[in-house]
This record gives sequence, C-alpha cells and structure tokens, in this order.
Amino acid sequence: MSKNIPYRIYLTEDEVPKYYYNLRADMPTKPAPLLNPGTHEPLKVEDLEPIFCTELAKQELDNDTRLIEIPDEVREYYKTYRPAPLMRAYALEKALDTPAEIYYKFEGNNTSGSHKLNSAIAQAYYAKQQGLKGVTTETGAGQWGTALSMACAHFGLDCRVYMVKVSYEQKAYRREVMRTYGANVTPSPSDTTEVGRQILKEHPGTGGSLGCAISEAVEVATHNPGYRYVLGSVLNQVLLHQSIIGLECKTAMDKYDIKPDIIIGCCGGGSNFGGLIAPFMGEKLTGKADYQFIGVEPKSCPSFTRGEYRYDFCDTGRVTPLAKMYTLGNGFIPSANHAGGLRYHGDSSILSELYHEGMFDAVAYEQTEVFKAAEFFARTEGLLPAPESSHAIKGAIDQALKCKETGEKKVILFGLTGTGYFDMTAYQQYNDGTMTDTIPTDADLQKGFDYIPDFPGNEAE
Ligand SMILES: *Cc1c(COP(=O)(O)O)cnc(C)c1O
Repeated sequence: MSKNIPYRIYLTEDEVPKYYYNLRADMPTKPAPLLNPGTHEPLKVEDLEPIFCTELAKQELDNDTRLIEIPDEVREYYKTYRPAPLMRAYALEKALDTPAEIYYKFEGNNTSGSHKLNSAIAQAYYAKQQGLKGVTTETGAGQWGTALSMACAHFGLDCRVYMVKVSYEQKAYRREVMRTYGANVTPSPSDTTEVGRQILKEHPGTGGSLGCAISEAVEVATHNPGYRYVLGSVLNQVLLHQSIIGLECKTAMDKYDIKPDIIIGCCGGGSNFGGLIAPFMGEKLTGKADYQFIGVEPKSCPSFTRGEYRYDFCDTGRVTPLAKMYTLGNGFIPSANHAGGLRYHGDSSILSELYHEGMFDAVAYEQTEVFKAAEFFARTEGLLPAPESSHAIKGAIDQALKCKETGEKKVILFGLTGTGYFDMTAYQQYNDGTMTDTIPTDADLQKGFDYIPDFPGNEAE
C-alpha cells in the first residue's frame, strides 16, 4: 500500500518523456485503416499528403514503431508547462468518505486550459518543418483552436480556425484569446466555403457542429497552396502525441509505488483517454499487468454506449476519409441544450477497436449529474473543472462510492483534462436550475445511423 503521497506529485523537467508511445505497436489487432471514400481502398501516405503534412501522415499510418522520438523543439516547449502535476485528491476522498485512493492528472495548467496543447505543439512543429505557410482547423468549445493558435504563434505559422457557431457566440472570450495569438476565427457553418454554404442551405439557422466545421477547414486547406489541415482529436497521430499524459502518470506512480486499479477518462474523440491509458493498456495487451479502464461520455452524444461500429465519414460534409469507429452517424448533431462538451459523433479508431475487443468499459451520464459532480469537485478540491473533464470526475466519484459500499481500497486514477473558466454560460444554466437533459430516442439515433455510408462489408458489427 502506498504511503506518504504528497498532494502534488511533481516530476522534474528531465522526466518530460523523450518518446511518444505508439500503442498500436502492441495491439494484436490493429485499428482499421482509413479508407478512400470513393474506392474503399486503404489510404497510403501519398493519399493523405494533400490534407496532412507528411510527417503526420506517416504517424497516422504507422502501426509498428513503438517509440517515436519527440523532437527537441517540441520537448522544449513542453517543458514550459510539463510535466503536468499528478494530484492526490485527499479532500475529495475525505468528502466522499471512501476507502479508495483517488488521483488525477491535471492537464489544465497552460493558457489554452487543456491537454490539446500537447498535440497542437507537435502538429505545428511538423508543419513548420515542412515549410508550410499555415494550417486550418475546426474547434468546438474552443480549447483546440486556442491550443493551436498558441502553437502557431510559437512556430510562426498562419492559423485559420473554423469555430462551431454556438460556441463562437457563447464563448466570445475564447475566440478573443485565439485572435490575441494571431489566429483568424470564422463561425461555422459559414458562407466562406462551398460545403458551408451547402450546410446553411440544408439547415438554416443551425448552431453548427464539429462535423460541419471539419468539412470547412478541410476544404480551405485543400484549396490553398502551403496549407494543411490539422485535427485536435480522433486521429491516431493525436492519440500518439497525447501518450505523454499516460507516460508521465506511469513514471510518477512508479516512483511512489502506486498501482492504479481503475483508470477513467472522458471521451469526445478519444485523445485524452487514449493518451492517458496508452502505457497501461500496453501492459494489459502484453500481459504484464491488468487494469480496469472506463471511458465516460455524455448521454446526449453516446458514441460508445449506443453507437454502431462501422466505417463512417469524420465530418458532416462527407469530405474526409472513412474511419472505422463507434459512430452515431456523420449527420448526428447533439441536441441544442447540450452544453457539456464531448459533442463529436464518432470516436478514435484505436479506442473503437479496443472497445470492440472488450478491453475497456464505457458509461454515459446526463449533463446535470455531470455538473453536480463538477460542483462537488470544485468545492472540495478547489479546481474549477471543464464540463468535459467533469464526466471523468463523475465516473471517479461513482467508483469511489462503490468502494465505500464494498469496503474495497481501490486506487482510482482519472484524467482532469482542463479548466472551466470559459464554460461559465453552462455553469450559469446549472446554477440557475435551467440546465436540462436530452437523451436521444432510438428513433433519433436511427436518423443518424441512416447517414452512415452503406457498402458491402460495412454492416454494423
Ligand atoms: C477537447 C477536450 C476533451 C475531449 O476531447 P478528447 O479528444 O476526447 O480528449 C476533453 N476535455 C477537454 C478539456 C477538452 O478540451
């Protein structure tokens, strides 16, 4: 049993990982490859090069290299805010009166306020190395766009962000942070792209979705020389970069002889959860150790718990390659009263394959119970969590309460992906008691599934 654990377990600068860990190398069944939507053939690096910069295209398709060196310039930037602290949640444990030990990895200690900066720095670096002028992207809640603007400012790249319209309007401050770092921010859907104009025609007055914004950003990247598209989640390359979250956790926990029994993360596109669990899942896959993993998602956007495991487009405009994943259908847009983040219709192909094999569990919560957990956490631990992160908090609290019932002294680790300072509109709804929950009916979900491309071999598994 571990003892004398400080509140904050710090590592030294030297302990910032030197390599990314590519979990795919240890997966007996590799994640399904990206497919060309026209021919349904697996994509090669050359096929991805018009969209992604070359190094990232290679990382996307590399299922074999276990360790990929982190470039010096990227690691130097990491050192300005990493290693991220691993916290022991003594106050939360006490308030819950649980025999469980609770730890969380806090990724909100940088200006962008989330783990997204970990991948933004790598992606901006490789784009700059290739001599590109700039990158385009989408952002939902704004964390990814903020992270990318910071990274682009650092490496001297132009940054064009398509921001989901509801967030653009609700999160004006986050938009201004991006502009302060020099990014060009457009509300999506917009009339600046072909696909945006099409979506506006079909859904006038829509608040937009990540899927729409992706279509717009991809169009701009492929129509402007010297530009490539970058994405803050879902892709294999992003999970690769985020492996530094799990690697740091593992180093810190090993130092204090702590072995987590349960590892919990929130799931949007899967990047923080995939990164957090990577080294631990690697041990599980190779029979070195066993852990229970729990991915947490919103009931209003339940990709793992109610989605279908099939090839689908990554975007609403159906311009991206096809990815095999648990999906609600590329046309799925979560109900307008959903403020709690994690709005993406699909999930990482790596996580989807692992979930399909039963390597982790998934649970879904309603947003009001998630905000209740956020409030409890803020009042006990002091940190104001992002709504997305609060899904993991709710998951951890539930597990800790289970331990209280059974008397088991389990060790729980969860990912606290970011801070909630820019989510005060959602907190306000919660505080005013006007926040509501919508759980899609089977008929609602069927409408989304109807968007999934139908071709031989793409039946739901
Ligand atoms: C983007 C984001 C998430 C969800 O994205 P994943 O790719 O699933 O990690 C979770 N928390 C915060 C704070 C985010 O910004």
